[in-house]
Amino acid sequence: MSRESMKKRDWIIIAVALLLAGALYAVSQMSLGTQASSVVVTVDGEEVLRKPLAVAGRYEIAQADGSLNVVRVADGAVWMEEANCRDGLCIRQGRMKNGAKTIVCLPHKVVVQIEGDTPQNEHSDLDVIIQ
Ligand SMILES: [Zn+2]
Repeated sequence: MSRESMKKRDWIIIAVALLLAGALYAVSQMSLGTQASSVVVTVDGEEVLRKPLAVAGRYEIAQADGSLNVVRVADGAVWMEEANCRDGLCIRQGRMKNGAKTIVCLPHKVVVQIEGDTPQNEHSDLDVIIQ
């Protein structure tokens, strides 16, 4: 009898711990969203893509001449995952997490930047993450 109730109490403690962890996770996701940031991709100076940095994704930037760049967003970072440019320098530039850096693919005139604006529709993106 006392053994059984011990077990139950253990389960309650575990459940509370899990709830707390979940709440912490939600808060960290929220601060990630308000902190800012959009991934902006331009081709030859023209904006072709704008996505929240807080939402993971894989975006193909395909151009009429067959140029292809694949931009990956995950874990609050962005990087060039694939590119068929001749030098491959954009891939070697690695991950970036803030606006201090840009990833440039010179042969394809592709520039990947992080912008710190917080447009209003970012809140709706945030709701999707939490659900
Ligand atoms: Zn490149």
